[in-house]
Amino acid sequence: MSTSDLDKSIQYIKGVGPKRAQTLARLGIHTVKDLLYCFPRTYQDRSRVEKISDLKDGTTAMVKGIVINIKSFRTRGWKSIFEASIGDGTSMLQVKWFNRPYQSEIFQVDDHVFLYGKVSLYKQTLQMVNPEYEIASEEDGQGKSVGILPVYPLTEEMRQVSFRKLVKTVVDEHYNKVEEIFTDDIISKQKFVPVTLAIKNIHFPDSLDSLEESKRRLKYEEFFLFETAMALRKRGIKEVSGYKFRIGQNVENHIYKLFPFKLTESQQKVISEIHEDMCSERPMNRLLQGDVGSGKTAVAVYALLAAVANGFQTAFMAPTEILAEQHYRTLSLMLEQAKVEILLLTGGAKAKIRKENIERIKQGEIDLVIGTHALIQQDVEFKKLGLIVIDEQHKFGVMQRTRLRQKGHKQQPDVLVMTATPIPRSLSLTVFGDLDISTIDELPPGRTPVVTYRVPAKKENDAYGFIRKEIDKGRQAFVVYPLVDESEKLDLKSATVEAESLRDEVFTGLNVGLLHGQMKSEMKDLIMTDFINHKYDILVSTIVIEVGIDVPNATVMAIEHAERFGLAQLHQLRGRIGRSSHQSYCLLFGTPKSIESRQRIKTMLETNDGFKIAEEDLRLRGPGEFFGTRQHGLPEFKIGDIINDYALLKMARDDAFELVKEGYKSKSSKKQMLLKKITESFKGKLDLINTG
Ligand code: ADP
Ligand code: MG
Repeated sequence: MSTSDLDKSIQYIKGVGPKRAQTLARLGIHTVKDLLYCFPRTYQDRSRVEKISDLKDGTTAMVKGIVINIKSFRTRGWKSIFEASIGDGTSMLQVKWFNRPYQSEIFQVDDHVFLYGKVSLYKQTLQMVNPEYEIASEEDGQGKSVGILPVYPLTEEMRQVSFRKLVKTVVDEHYNKVEEIFTDDIISKQKFVPVTLAIKNIHFPDSLDSLEESKRRLKYEEFFLFETAMALRKRGIKEVSGYKFRIGQNVENHIYKLFPFKLTESQQKVISEIHEDMCSERPMNRLLQGDVGSGKTAVAVYALLAAVANGFQTAFMAPTEILAEQHYRTLSLMLEQAKVEILLLTGGAKAKIRKENIERIKQGEIDLVIGTHALIQQDVEFKKLGLIVIDEQHKFGVMQRTRLRQKGHKQQPDVLVMTATPIPRSLSLTVFGDLDISTIDELPPGRTPVVTYRVPAKKENDAYGFIRKEIDKGRQAFVVYPLVDESEKLDLKSATVEAESLRDEVFTGLNVGLLHGQMKSEMKDLIMTDFINHKYDILVSTIVIEVGIDVPNATVMAIEHAERFGLAQLHQLRGRIGRSSHQSYCLLFGTPKSIESRQRIKTMLETNDGFKIAEEDLRLRGPGEFFGTRQHGLPEFKIGDIINDYALLKMARDDAFELVKEGYKSKSSKKQMLLKKITESFKGKLDLINTG
């Protein structure tokens, strides 16, 4: 067996010179192995040759025939046209190629050819424009392009036919050199075909069945490698020693006394998982997911105070200043009587004050620092950081998570990450695959589910009247717009302009406040506090209030141009209400035009379940767009699809984690070898693998 053959540069393959090698390099293909692992994007089923007389306009088909005559000419506008008439004894087909002058060299009258392409009707004659073709060889008269043919993800500079030929050459010569990475037990358990056959069949399948078998095997392999790296990464984090907190009954009782409510069973279950992590000597690396309003903050407070009680500093990180400020207010109030030094550190603070604050953190005077991204800036140092809570992780990349972790003292601090919305299961196995996951799956008691309505244009006034009625009952309302300022290009209502007209024309006599992201942070804080204190009846805002904001007296969330928001955003916005025993209402204004935006609104009307909405959101947007940020850390799989191949992903993950667990225990066997091989192939990449 020779791996070096597979690592050979593609340039040394017959027919590939330096120039083609460059084109291939641009496709990410450098070695023989790269080419073997460049999988088709799709396939063309050419197993059926059709009679020309049977062809129908608009279908895609393959025919075999003889070249009756050829014609090559130029027209104005087109560089050149090459035409051929093909007959197969049943009828005639016109074939045209535009801008391919060399075509005339390849086709000769009397050649036997295969043609594959879309059939169209032009001036009463059936034709194919720019079809794929192949000349049937003299001897077999069969040609090679029969069967199921691969279609590769190529660029303009590389043509399918010639690329396919190259792959064919390489596959024929090298496929049997591909090394089997799996142990026999995995192969027999999963009933896999050997990897060599899988590689051969993924390119040139014998049948649709063998293609499916090969795909399954190669997808699994891809998932398995990734998940093994994930398991190793997770293990790597666990191997570092962390702090071993002591959290006795006494401390717990103290903390529970601070809550104005009894924790739900779900909160308690999650707290006991966190308790176990914190009391072990391994650093905690846990993700807490729960729907909006499920009470994640209380869980965070438990962890923070437990660490503080152990004499450690803690950090509580939020994605926006408004949210950081809210946490600061809530916790300051809660901890009025407790001996906990708490500090708000945001980017907006004055340089001098910020410097003082940073010094106090460094000296260890502060027990609990609440802040935004500013917390992970280089100049912030802790004396004894024991625990980090990251709220609403949706907005944080894995990179930032890693950076904050490095702020720890000698040992790794515990990390608790909380998500803004539930995480689709496929992502919890990949992007968040290195974390332990806790789930809050119940809402605090006494909540009435939010009722959601769509407001068509002609009902807008009724909707405003409805909002006024709620306010008359003593409630408050949010009105959210997609933009801050009026934009000339898009005909969207904007918060600034609309706040005025709502105040002057629609809600006369009511107090209308305005909040948006471009305001100074003191201003934002002031307006938010005023809204909480009911100085405003209505808060006109932008997406800045998307996450976390907690104003239980607000019962209306009116979203203008709802079609402009993503599903997760809509659900988050709706999560701002329904936080008390009063019935709450979400009003979706606007006119969805695209199929997708209609589907989003429909989903919002159908369900309040954040877990369902997250799955739907992922399905609609696809994994790449789901996070809306480049820092998402989503791995790029070549062939596997984490949504459609979820079952396979899950199996691969279980097997991979099992391998890492077993492999380290058993001194024997191929398992060790496999593990060693995978570790080596991911060397230096383990830390990066999750950062995208
Ligand atoms: P989220 O999970 O969205 O961050 P929060 O932590 O903001 O949710 O909690 C939502 C609201 O529910 C807050 O007003 C909070 O005080 C309240 N809450 C949390 N836990 C409970 C509970 N066990 N019983 C009653 N109310 C609770
Ligand atoms: Mg929250």
